[in-house]
Amino acid sequence: MNSPQTSASQHPAHHMPIPGLTDPVPVARPITPRADGRIDLLGVARPAITELLIEAGLEPKAAKLRAKQVYHWIYHRGVTDFAEMTDIAKGLRPWLSERFVIGRPDIVTAQISSDGTRKWLLSTTDGHEFEMVFIPDEARGTLCVSSQVGCTLNCTFCHTGTMRLVRNLTPGEIVGQVMLARDALGEWPKGNMAGFAPDTDEEDEEDTYSPDGRLLTNIVMMGMGEPLYNFDNVRDALKLVMDGDGLALSRRRITLSTSGVVPMIARTGAEINVNLAISLHAVTKQVRDEIVPINRKYGIEELLEACAAYPGASNSRRITFEYVMLAGKNDSDADARELVRLLRHYRLPAKVNLIPFNPWPGAVYECSPPDRIRRFSEIIFESGISAPIRSPRGRDIDAACGQLKTSAARMTRAELDRLAEEKLAALEVGD
Ligand code: SAH
Ligand code: SF4
Repeated sequence: MNSPQTSASQHPAHHMPIPGLTDPVPVARPITPRADGRIDLLGVARPAITELLIEAGLEPKAAKLRAKQVYHWIYHRGVTDFAEMTDIAKGLRPWLSERFVIGRPDIVTAQISSDGTRKWLLSTTDGHEFEMVFIPDEARGTLCVSSQVGCTLNCTFCHTGTMRLVRNLTPGEIVGQVMLARDALGEWPKGNMAGFAPDTDEEDEEDTYSPDGRLLTNIVMMGMGEPLYNFDNVRDALKLVMDGDGLALSRRRITLSTSGVVPMIARTGAEINVNLAISLHAVTKQVRDEIVPINRKYGIEELLEACAAYPGASNSRRITFEYVMLAGKNDSDADARELVRLLRHYRLPAKVNLIPFNPWPGAVYECSPPDRIRRFSEIIFESGISAPIRSPRGRDIDAACGQLKTSAARMTRAELDRLAEEKLAALEVGD
């Protein structure tokens, strides 16, 4: 294994190459870079922690045991200070903190909406800003997680698409969002470490770990970026989130949303196997080519075929089709009927999420009027497919998922148009 310090200094984050505009091959960048030379264990899986401990000088057997303990403290208990790892020999704790850290993304701002929605503007250690949103309701609490800083795909209704991609987030920066949310919500188990501390008695019931009654119950990969253009890092992060010895969230409570990176959908099923959401947004080639430009590369038919082949696609595990309501663009009765026809034709166990368009300065669309959205929803419901209208949350803090803003440079409309043209030209070359 290469020394992480070496690879970090060879490829400072802001120079990380993202080959191509439409096929940015995931660039392996497993460890979050740090200026002080210590290695950040956040986002590192257990076997890799073992390797790092061996490289640092521990015997393989000791390294394996220590890695198991450290891993448990990091992901199951949320500890960020080696001094608190009470089952590790006292002398070893400072040795660890000289060489390693357990990081978190930096918090730039944290806001709470009047409806309880919370939004954080976060920063990587090398200064790139990205966002995370927590949306509580009666039944669940959903964390909306980012996968990239910016997005290369440039969907015309999406604010993230107007920012140039700065870089893929590392596994640590992705899993770090979930951990930060648990920090903020105070949801780390405080009691004895199951399987580690001696089994004393059943006294402190309230103090012991319990997955029930949590605020954070669900995760959606619907923040900034296209998760399937950062496949390896998203997969590695979600593995840590799902690991029973790690954050232990069920894959049934995790949803990955893609604009339609068709070649990666089968791998998502095979290697991650979380719930799938597809940002469909249009039912004709003409309109989808315009509003979701990746459609020029992977068309609606190919996309729906890939969905039909997704493992476990069944009535108990339906695929979500997201549909942003844009006035006069994709919201006619005929569009709704065509949507029903397509979902039936491909025999897709589907639910449709109708998302009222969330406007942003410079956007060229308007949200469909409420009556129109209701009628659109009814047509789909009448065919037996569920099509709820998502209620906008956290509007007062601009927190809607998929409409995440940062202080990253905003572009003028002319710049946006030029960028869109460049990206479309690149797509055509790629065909
Ligand atoms: N890149 C992925 C995931 C992030 S976007 C994808 O496109 O699926 C998450 C969702 O928010 C997508 O369905 C996206 O189309 C939607 N979205 C983006 N901008 C929006 C806006 N201004 N109003 C409403 N929904 C938006
Ligand atoms: Fe990227 Fe998704 Fe926004 Fe499209 S909708 S630009 S894929 S983040």
